[in-house]
Amino acid sequence: MLVGALNPYPCGYFGDPLKECSCSPTQVSRYSKRISGPMMDRIDIFVEVPRVDYEKRPAPSNGESSADVWRRVQAARDIQQHSFSDTAILNNAEMEPNEVDQLCEVEDSVQSLIQAAV
Ligand SMILES: [Zn+2]
Repeated sequence: MLVGALNPYPCGYFGDPLKECSCSPTQVSRYSKRISGPMMDRIDIFVEVPRVDYEKRPAPSNGESSADVWRRVQAARDIQQHSFSDTAILNNAEMEPNEVDQLCEVEDSVQSLIQAAV
């Protein structure tokens, strides 16, 4: 997975409600050619991220604690250890295609989703 960021225009203010874009058409044209078409073709999702007001930023969340995350990861590791007990591998990342075929059951609904995506 590749995640990247770039300014929409060289000045960085295109579409900004507080500061006007100062780019000339030539600058915009030159800037847009800095990332090649074939590279852009391989990026599937583009998300425009507007300026965030410090005052209006979201409050810190009371999300899951690190200890809870650790317990979830450990539970997943325990499942993998059980699944791979008869093999030389330790975790999902080490699975080869034949192990995926043997150990990973794909539900019909997921199979349909894969088919539609392909
Ligand atoms: Zn600009």
